[in-house]
Amino acid sequence: MSFPHNADLHCHSVVSDGTLTPEQLAARARANGVDLWSLTDHDEVGGQQRALEAARAEGLRYLTGVEVSVTFADETVHIVGLGFDHTDPRLAEGLADTRDGRGPRAVEMGEQLARVGIAGAYEGALRYVGNPRLISRTHFARFLVETGVCRDTAEVFRRYLVEGKPGYVPHRWARLGDAVRWITQSGGVAVIAHPARYDISPTVEYALFSEFKQHGGQAVEVITGSHTAAEAARYAAMAREFGLAASRGSDFHSPDESHTDLGQLPPLPADLTPVWTLLANRIH
Ligand code: AMP
Ligand code: MN
Ligand code: MN
Ligand code: MN
Repeated sequence: MSFPHNADLHCHSVVSDGTLTPEQLAARARANGVDLWSLTDHDEVGGQQRALEAARAEGLRYLTGVEVSVTFADETVHIVGLGFDHTDPRLAEGLADTRDGRGPRAVEMGEQLARVGIAGAYEGALRYVGNPRLISRTHFARFLVETGVCRDTAEVFRRYLVEGKPGYVPHRWARLGDAVRWITQSGGVAVIAHPARYDISPTVEYALFSEFKQHGGQAVEVITGSHTAAEAARYAAMAREFGLAASRGSDFHSPDESHTDLGQLPPLPADLTPVWTLLANRIH
């Protein structure tokens, strides 16, 4: 069978908001038949060396990965980077700046939740944080489930932590062009993550794809754990229209929370250029 047979280029570890370690993810990826893997923690490359070594130990090929939080037209969008040099200092600095506001934002989220009668959420969320530099809404969601405020994390994100609901603190993330440049200048390829998940108009979406491409972005996730078949078809068409390569990743976070497990995804449409063909010399 030709390589890769089963690429999964999007998931999270305890270094951001996943619940498994890089080593546990590598073992799970191998057990699920993944042969090309990438760990893409939010705004953080602190898990890359461990992931690289764990992949080697499991016999998996590996591309370095990251998922950068970006503010575009007042909306949060995510840009995945693949195949960059994870020791690049400019990338490290950009990611450090992007992470910077997370602490104060989390304190404010806790204060908002306290005002609607949910006490101790900041301290509670902190108990789930594996990396003190990276506290996210997911950690609050786990606390709200554990304390019985909500049944599952999906309910948390319906009732809390999203725009218009208690616990939502607007935040300005990295700029699109900066995120793309941190990735490309360190030798990687930038990828628009899960494009169907953004609450943006077709006009803003067109602007996102156009500007992403102008900044040097080269790929889009067509197959992800959060795309329906219709959404995959829609973004396959966008990839053709904008001349972008296609990526494939589960966005796996946790055995208890994620609907799509590592490697359990449909294939990329056969006519699209797989993103890893742009990264042949970056595969470990
Ligand atoms: P943050 O970067 O702190 O804004 O947190 C974003 C993270 O929250 C995402 O990466 C997801 O892991 C999680 N998230 C956002 N929306 C949802 C949702 N509707 N259901 C479950 N998890 C979500
Ligand atoms: Mn996440
Ligand atoms: Mn994302
Ligand atoms: Mn993700």
